[in-house]
Amino acid sequence: MRILVTGGAGYIGSHVAKALASAGHTPVVFDNLEMGHRWAVRWGPLIEGDLADASAARAALEGVEAVVHLAGYIFVGESVKAPSKYYRNNFVNSLNLLDAMRAAGVRDIVFSSTAAVYGAPEKVPIPEDSPKIPINPYGESKRFFEQALEWYGAAYGMRSLCLRYFNAAGADPDGETGEAHEPETHLIPLVIDAALGVRPPVGLFGTDYPTPDGTAIRDYIHVTDLARAHVLGIEYLRSGGASTALNVGTGSGHSVREIISVVEGISGLPVPVNIAPRREGDSPALVALALRAREALGWEPRHSSLEEIVRTALAWHRRMAKHPPR
Ligand code: UDP
Repeated sequence: MRILVTGGAGYIGSHVAKALASAGHTPVVFDNLEMGHRWAVRWGPLIEGDLADASAARAALEGVEAVVHLAGYIFVGESVKAPSKYYRNNFVNSLNLLDAMRAAGVRDIVFSSTAAVYGAPEKVPIPEDSPKIPINPYGESKRFFEQALEWYGAAYGMRSLCLRYFNAAGADPDGETGEAHEPETHLIPLVIDAALGVRPPVGLFGTDYPTPDGTAIRDYIHVTDLARAHVLGIEYLRSGGASTALNVGTGSGHSVREIISVVEGISGLPVPVNIAPRREGDSPALVALALRAREALGWEPRHSSLEEIVRTALAWHRRMAKHPPR
């Protein structure tokens, strides 16, 4: 199948494109290259375009049978300071894509949603039917689009699978793509780069959370496992699966301090750390109840031990430090 992958030049998107190509599909990447990279588009054609441009979205759907929609801004902290940017890009521009799909008669969409739709949940691990009360505009912009998908499904027969990502981490085990955000705000790459001495000491945001070691807990999922969930998700929709939302996580949480100590153990290098206040918009703990994705998609994590996540990420960042891809 020819599958449009919006945001396919990004970190998760490039892994999704690779996974789709390995499954025999043609990933057509649609990306404005604001955050994505031309070098990360290796598994199918690139259409350079922006979803703010409704006509570009319509043109990109030529010959396409299904869509994986990942384009969007991703930074929680930034979203608190610039909500307008997040609502517009992640919600308003995404509606252009949905309307273009309607016009083109493309019904199936896998959407990159996030654990941030749950806000600061009372119940952890978090089941999919937990209340959706985002605590930052990033999570809310994703929640809005999930909601739009529900209504578009009821009114226009669109079929959607929302994948609520927990913390994507690690890099392609073959070293063909990996994380390269600028600015980088994610924990694992910052900890690794601090160990490698290519970035300053990492700030540890908050040591007073109600967790065993006082630092925040996240569910880290290997990006290759996450990518496979999209391939299975497309197949699920194409074979008549009902629209739904699924958590994509491991079901196990790790604290910030644990990440730092695993990076130190695997790299053999000390990680310089500065204790800092909590970051605005952050939840104390986000861990998936990860059963429904297994049931619905037959998906399960294969590469998501903390050891494999850190090992593949370390290999990628070592290479990036020496030979940044172009
Ligand atoms: N974090 C941190 N220092 C950093 C970046 C992140 O202590 O420089 C913490 C952050 O507060 C959160 C966890 O690490 O508790 C994961 O943050 P990340 O930005 O990687 O992902 P998020 O959970 O925000 O999507």
